[in-house]
Parts: sequence; structure tokens; C-alpha cells
Amino acid sequence: MKISIRARSSGDAPYQVDFLVEDNKLSVHCNCQAGIFGKLCKHKTELLAGDASRLFDESETPKLEKLAILVARAPELGNIPKAIAEAEKIIRREQANVKQIKKEFGEKLKKGVVILS
Ligand SMILES: [Zn+2]
Repeated sequence: MKISIRARSSGDAPYQVDFLVEDNKLSVHCNCQAGIFGKLCKHKTELLAGDASRLFDESETPKLEKLAILVARAPELGNIPKAIAEAEKIIRREQANVKQIKKEFGEKLKKGVVILS
């Protein structure tokens, strides 16, 4: 059995995440750059975590619901996908914050900062 879900990417085209069940084992494959190299990507973790915001469009919702039933039957997964997905979201948000602060500070240093007399 296979569930193929189209995941939202940073570009226009979606990535395809395949959830394969064979011999009572679930394996996950994604065709994004990281996934091609067999790495754990955000598409895999966020879909396993049940994050609907990662879906390419609403037509994928029933498949995410089917996946959630599978995930509930895989005790080894535990809360690992949710923990990873949440931690990565925090990291991305903080990276964006740091980038903004550095940009503003860099411009301030270019213009010059006030020296008190
Ligand atoms: Zn991926």
C-alpha cells in the first residue's frame, strides 16, 4: 500500500512524499533535494506530524487523514515527528529574526553610530 502526498515547496512545483507500507513496515521517501539523498526532510517530518499547512492544496487532506491512521499504528514514531517539526519551525523563525536584526544593524554600522562626547 502506498500513500503519495504532494507537499508544498518553496517553489511552484510540489514535492511528492511517498509513504510505503510493505510487510507491516512503513517507509517514507521524498523527491526534494534532501530526500533524494535519503535525508530526513521537513516534508517527511511535517506530514508525519499531521501538519496540514505542508500540503500542496486541499485535495491532499484526505490522504493526510489516512496517513494519520497509519502513524497512530506505528508506536516507534511516538512524538518524534512532532518534536522535530516544532523544533525546526522555531529554528526557522529565529533564523529569520536574526537575519532581520543583522540586516538592520549592518545598515546602522554602514551609516555610522553616534559617539557621545
Ligand atoms: Zn522533502
